[in-house]
This record gives sequence, C-alpha cells and structure tokens, in this order.
Amino acid sequence: MEPFQLVLARNFNIWNYAAAICSEERAIEAAKRWLLIPSQTPRCPSCGRPMNAETNINYKLGFRWRCRRAGCNVIRSPLKGTFFERSNVSILNTMRLLLHFFRKDKVSQAARDVGVTRKTAIQIYHYLREVCEVAEAHDRDMIGGDNDIVDVDETHLYTNKYHRGRLLQRQTWSFGCISRLTKKIHVELIPNKIGPH
Ligand SMILES: [Zn+2]
Repeated sequence: MEPFQLVLARNFNIWNYAAAICSEERAIEAAKRWLLIPSQTPRCPSCGRPMNAETNINYKLGFRWRCRRAGCNVIRSPLKGTFFERSNVSILNTMRLLLHFFRKDKVSQAARDVGVTRKTAIQIYHYLREVCEVAEAHDRDMIGGDNDIVDVDETHLYTNKYHRGRLLQRQTWSFGCISRLTKKIHVELIPNKIGPH
C-alpha cells in the first residue's frame, strides 16, 4: 500500500506514520496532502495575478512566493497562515510533535523522542492547544437558531467536501451538522464507535 494511504487507513499507528513520514520531503508532501500547507499557487494580494516561486535552500520549503510585477513586488511565505509558520523546527519535526500531541504523550516524552528541546516541544504543544481551542470555540456556538435549519449527516467527515476530515478518515466515526443558513459545519466525534479493525 502507498505509504500515505497506510497512514490514513484503519491501521493507523506510530510505526506506519514514521515509515510514511520519514524525511523532510515526505513531511512536506504529507502536510500538503492533508491540507495543512496550501498546495496551490496563491494570487498576489495586490494585483490578483498568480505569484511566482522563488527558490532558495535557506527557506523552510525551499522557496517563497513573489509577485514580480513592477508596482507590486509582494513577497509571501508559503507557510503564511499555517501553524508551521510559528514553528521554529523543521516540517518533519513539527509533524512528529503533532503525532505526539494527538497521542496525548507527555511533552517531555515528545521532546526526547523527536530530539528537540523541551522548550520547543512546549511551544508547539501550546500552539496546537490554541488551535484546538479556537476550532472548538468556533464549533460551539455557530449552529442553529430560530430561522435556521440544521442538517445532520453521519458521513460528513468522510467526504472530500470537508477537508478537515482527511486526517481522521476511517479512524473515527462522527456526525456532521451543517447549517442551511450560514453553511457552517459542526463536527462531533463519537469516541466509542470505532470503525472495523
Ligand atoms: Zn502583484
């Protein structure tokens, strides 16, 4: 089986993850596949034209975006707006810390296994916790109301329509609610209803 599929398959575990995400290149590829890093060419915020990749090995992804149009000269990091932007370690190590975080491993354990300082691991954990809190708060109070109709669908997390479900594919059962009024989605995980092993 193709390594990334293996990670997303029902036998998701740390060994498959480590085998699939074994280098910086693979980590970047995975982050793009799972939509943690945008893979499309952005448009210049000033003129709206597609930006150009300017390569340099010193950049984290090996390039940055630039609009070369005379009046613009806009430069943008391909990691802008992603949580990798705030991480001061490689994409690979950030992805590894992410796995430890998902597994609820102690931060000192994560630091030792990944080979980063405790301070770095704490920073990433802290930031991931922030992301979770924002996502959770966003979900909490956005659905329903007097003039709203909420559709419930147990399969929402599995469809490609909602990209946030990709990493959780086949691991966790859930149901999704979607507001007809605001089009906002609320996803609820069902912890004890595990898919077939
Ligand atoms: Zn431009």
